[in-house]
Amino acid sequence: MIVQEQVCLKDKHSFHLNVSARYWAEYQKTEELREILQDKRFDKLPVLPVGGGCNILFTQDFPGLIIKSAISGIDVLHENKDEVLLRAGSGLDWDQFVEYCVSQAWGGIENLSGIPGLTGASPIQNIGAYGVEAKDVIHSVEVFDRQTQELKVLPVEECGLAYRNSRFKQEWKDRFIVCYISYRLNKKPFYRLDYGNLKEALSSQGGLQEGPDAHSYNLALIRRTVLAIRSSKLPDPDVLGNAGSFFKNPELEASAFALLAERFPELPHWKLPNNKVKLSAAWMIEHCGWKGKSLGRAGVYPKQALVLVNLGAAQGEEIYDLYQQIAADVFSTFGIRLQAEVVIL
Ligand SMILES: Cc1cc2nc3c(=O)[nH]c(=O)nc-3n(C[C@H](O)[C@H](O)[C@H](O)COP(=O)(O)OP(=O)(O)OC[C@H]3O[C@@H](n4cnc5c(N)ncnc54)[C@H](O)[C@@H]3O)c2cc1C
Repeated sequence: MIVQEQVCLKDKHSFHLNVSARYWAEYQKTEELREILQDKRFDKLPVLPVGGGCNILFTQDFPGLIIKSAISGIDVLHENKDEVLLRAGSGLDWDQFVEYCVSQAWGGIENLSGIPGLTGASPIQNIGAYGVEAKDVIHSVEVFDRQTQELKVLPVEECGLAYRNSRFKQEWKDRFIVCYISYRLNKKPFYRLDYGNLKEALSSQGGLQEGPDAHSYNLALIRRTVLAIRSSKLPDPDVLGNAGSFFKNPELEASAFALLAERFPELPHWKLPNNKVKLSAAWMIEHCGWKGKSLGRAGVYPKQALVLVNLGAAQGEEIYDLYQQIAADVFSTFGIRLQAEVVIL
């Protein structure tokens, strides 16, 4: 394991901002992780675990140590005719992991095809797309506890996975480093197709097949279709730096929503089971006139108002200022405070 000093982060995160880290290290084994975290040089410095940096906005140089997981490997822990329990290293590329599972005809994460980043962030962010979230398939998370210097297994029920959130981002912040994740995937046909235009897009590709050997074909078709929809809607971070959806869709009590809906009857929304309503942040941002607009070298992606982009050589602060201005306009128009999905540093 090599520790590097004064490392440029431009190619190590998806906004591609010109920032640096005082120290950078990658670990392939938990022993290496332990070794680096016990190194006296870093005792008083902030430590930031990262994966692909696809959900981070650096507003300044990072003054401490950044550690990136390169723990690899996929092991089958248990399997029967219905399902398989896998243990994956936290340093795997998420989409390559999905591709591998689909190729084995293991279902459950095909809707999450094309999400950039590493497996390690999947429980932190509870990544989600097309009606599926990481919490639907994660069984447990193996972590290194920085308080006790020990490895431990956390059952997913204890991790508080919720909409783009988890205890890792709240009270466990700065405590646990994710080393392995166990996923429970299914071998039987069970598909989630009710989200957005997925069903229509699949029909236009000939639709799902039926029959004993159709599962493998169907998973591959869903994966291909999701990838095609995503690439038609979202900017490629290597062309236009971004971190996917910058904003979360806000949630309101149903009674508060009823009042808002009197003023904005066309505001897209989804009823949630807990007497809450989720609102479309993209619609509100577009309503405030921000879609396709820019501020300095930071812009709102013309095809998707949730995505803020680096128009070229932007500073992190410019992206942050754009986020603040949009949030202020949405608040003055709708009385709703938008929250960032992206981790702002
Ligand atoms: C074009 C684009 C499209 C996207 N689409 C989606 C989408 O559809 N759905 C979705 O949910 N997200 C989406 N995202 C956001 C992003 O891909 C996910 O949040 C992804 O999980 C980030 O993974 P990462 O490895 O890059 O994490 P990073 O950005 O490196 O880290 C994210 C957070 O997790 C922490 N972290 C990372 N690894 C570890 C670890 N091993 N241990 C402890 N903490 C860790 C970091 O400290 C940070 O707080 C998109 C991003 C882009 C650029």
